[in-house]
Amino acid sequence: MILFKKVAGLQQYLTRLKQKGHTIGFAPTMGALHEGHLSLIESSRKANAITVSSIFVNPAQFNDPKDFEKYPVTIEKDILMLETAGCSVLFLPSVEEIYPAGSPAKEYYDLGYLETILEGKYRPGHFQGVCKVMDRLLDIVRPGNLYLGQKDYQQCMVIAKLTELMGKKDSIITNICPTLREPDGLAMSSRNMRLNKEEREIAPAIYQTLTFIKENLTKGSLHELKAKASAKLVAKGFKPDYIEIADAATLQIINDPEATGWDGKQKLVALTAVFLHEVRLIDNLLLNE
Ligand code: AMP
Repeated sequence: MILFKKVAGLQQYLTRLKQKGHTIGFAPTMGALHEGHLSLIESSRKANAITVSSIFVNPAQFNDPKDFEKYPVTIEKDILMLETAGCSVLFLPSVEEIYPAGSPAKEYYDLGYLETILEGKYRPGHFQGVCKVMDRLLDIVRPGNLYLGQKDYQQCMVIAKLTELMGKKDSIITNICPTLREPDGLAMSSRNMRLNKEEREIAPAIYQTLTFIKENLTKGSLHELKAKASAKLVAKGFKPDYIEIADAATLQIINDPEATGWDGKQKLVALTAVFLHEVRLIDNLLLNE
C-alpha cells in the first residue's frame, strides 16, 4: 500500500495508472476503522485494479464541536488494517490540504428535500459539510467506482445526488454495500468505541427495535408501530432524535394518521438516530426487500 499525504503526489500517481487503463475504486472514511469499512475495500478490490481509501476526519461535517473533538483516532491500527485488507493507496491529507487557505468561499449544495429530514433536520449543516469534503475528494481521486455503506443510508442518497450536481453521475458509479453488524446486531461504527461496558450492553436494542418494526409491519397506519418502537428505545435508556419509516427510494416519510399509511407494496426503510448518554448512534433496516 502506498500512502500519500499531498494531493499533487496522489494525483500524479493515479493519473499514470488511469493512462495505463487501470480502474479506480474509492472508499472514503474518517478512520477508526472496523470490519464495516474493510467490507468496502473488499468490494472495491473485487471490481477494480486499484483501490484507494482515504482517512480524513472532516471538521466541516460536525455540527457539534464536542463530537468532533471526541471522534476516535486510531491511525496506526487503521494503516495496518488497510494494508492487510489489500488496499492499494491510502490518502491521508491534512485539513490544509483538503481546504487550502484562499480556496473559494463556501459553496452551497442544493440537496432539496433530502436535507430537510432525519439527519438533515437534526444535524443542521451536516450534509453541506459531507458534500464539501466529497466534492473535493472526488475531484482529487476521480474514481470510476465509489463505495459507501448502507449504514449511512441518507448519506448514500446525498452523495449520489452530489455526483448528479457535479455532473459526474455517469462517470462515478455509486456502489452501496450492506451494513456489517456485531454478532449481537449492533451496527459496526467508529462511535461504538466511545460506549462504556453498560452502554455497549444496551446498544443492540437499536437493531432489535428496527427488527421489531420489520416483524410487525402491516398495511395501513404505521403511526402506532412507530410509537411502540420509540417507547421501546426510551425504556432502554435511549434518547431518540427520530425513529421513522420512509420510502426506501425517496426517503419520503410515511406520515400518518394524516395520510393513509402504507399500501403494503411500497418499499420501506426504518431509520433511527438515538443518543445513549453522550454518544449518538444511527442505524436503519430495509423492511421489505
Ligand atoms: P465513516 O468512517 O463512519 O465516515 O464511514 C466511512 C464509510 O464506511 C461510509 O461509507 C460508511 O457508510 C461506511 N460504513 C460505516 N459503518 C459501516 C458498517 N457497519 N457497515 C458497512 N459500511 C459501513
